[in-house]
Amino acid sequence: MTVRPPIQEHVPLAAMTTLGLGGPARCFAEAASDDAVRVLLAYGAQAGLPVHILGGGSNTVFADAGYPGLVVRLTSRGMDFSTAGHRVRVVAAAGESWDNLVAACVDRGYAGLECLSGIPGQVGASPIQNVGAYGQEVAEAIVEVRALERRSGRRVCFAAADCDFGYRQSRFRQQDAGRYVVTEVIFELQPDAAPAVRYPELRQQLERRGRLAAATAGGRAALAVVRDTVIAVRRAKSMVFDPGDPDSRSAGSFFVNPVLSDGEWQRLRATLAEPDAIPSYPVPGGRKVPAAWLIEQAGFARGWRRGGVGISPQHALALVNYHGTTTELLDLAAAIQTAVWQRFGVHLQREPVVVNADEACHPRPS
Ligand SMILES: Cc1cc2nc3c(=O)[nH]c(=O)nc-3n(C[C@H](O)[C@H](O)[C@H](O)COP(=O)(O)OP(=O)(O)OC[C@H]3O[C@@H](n4cnc5c(N)ncnc54)[C@H](O)[C@@H]3O)c2cc1C
Repeated sequence: MTVRPPIQEHVPLAAMTTLGLGGPARCFAEAASDDAVRVLLAYGAQAGLPVHILGGGSNTVFADAGYPGLVVRLTSRGMDFSTAGHRVRVVAAAGESWDNLVAACVDRGYAGLECLSGIPGQVGASPIQNVGAYGQEVAEAIVEVRALERRSGRRVCFAAADCDFGYRQSRFRQQDAGRYVVTEVIFELQPDAAPAVRYPELRQQLERRGRLAAATAGGRAALAVVRDTVIAVRRAKSMVFDPGDPDSRSAGSFFVNPVLSDGEWQRLRATLAEPDAIPSYPVPGGRKVPAAWLIEQAGFARGWRRGGVGISPQHALALVNYHGTTTELLDLAAAIQTAVWQRFGVHLQREPVVVNADEACHPRPS
């Protein structure tokens, strides 16, 4: 029988998130195994406490009031590599650091995750919003997600095709939000294949550094060039979490780029004096419009601050905590949403998960 991990009371949560915001958890525990997760879920149910699963806290906004239940932080570790035909299979524990996994794959010369270098957080959270960057999404490499159903403690496996992956979406964030705890993710990677250099900005940055030929040659060295370049570009935008960089005290992008239907896209263009000035990209289901462009055009410049929070000087999509509060941050987010709605008729959807903060304070414009 598994011994229940120790449960602490009134534990500050802010330091467990990259934003550094939020009050205390009424109860807090760490789970290093599936059985520990099960035991803690059962304890929460028995004690009548809601349970929140925390990974690396890089996409989480805790309320100033904290969390009135049990926060369970996953601490399972491990990556197991094996060959599967011409491909390599890696089974990674949910609590493993995401970037450690990417680094290990690049070091071994396995292609498939290299553009996702420098993203904070844990492996277990990667399928939740299908993390993506620089032209790659984790869904391209995932073959299976293993999880525990929270209510029954039953082990379940989802083939990638059953995860309903989309742009910053999956079943774990939509119809099954809060239903499962991801315990392991299985990836398939390509040994000695060329890195994915598809994204125009990545290609330009490689060219500017004189490293495009090295990056597209293939093999371990090329993967390392792409990884180093992605991290350098991210760092310049404060998109690598670094306690020494106050502008990186964020949750990364605070809003997802809206995907507009044909009708919405035409209506948006009709509001503009220069309709061709707006950048956009065709994607399945419509046109993706950069939220950063909408935000800046709606009057919120990079570097703009209000109280203890602001917009990153490097990136209009990142809201930064400069010793403020969650209330200030969510008020700023709501002000941006309202301005973009009033100016363009487009609703910006938040990307991070807001835990225990009053949704009614931050209404969706109707
Ligand atoms: C500087 C910075 C840059 C970023 N850049 C990017 C980027 O380029 N692309 C991108 O996609 N994201 C980016 N992000 C967002 C974030 O890093 C990712 O969403 C990441 O996957 C979150 O992982 P986490 O472990 O920190 O999740 P957390 O913040 O701990 O949790 C996020 C959500 O997932 C749930 N969750 C976590 N682990 C599990 C689990 N094992 N089982 C079930 N539910 C779970 C939580 O309950 C919560 O709902 C960035 C964030 C920061 C701070």
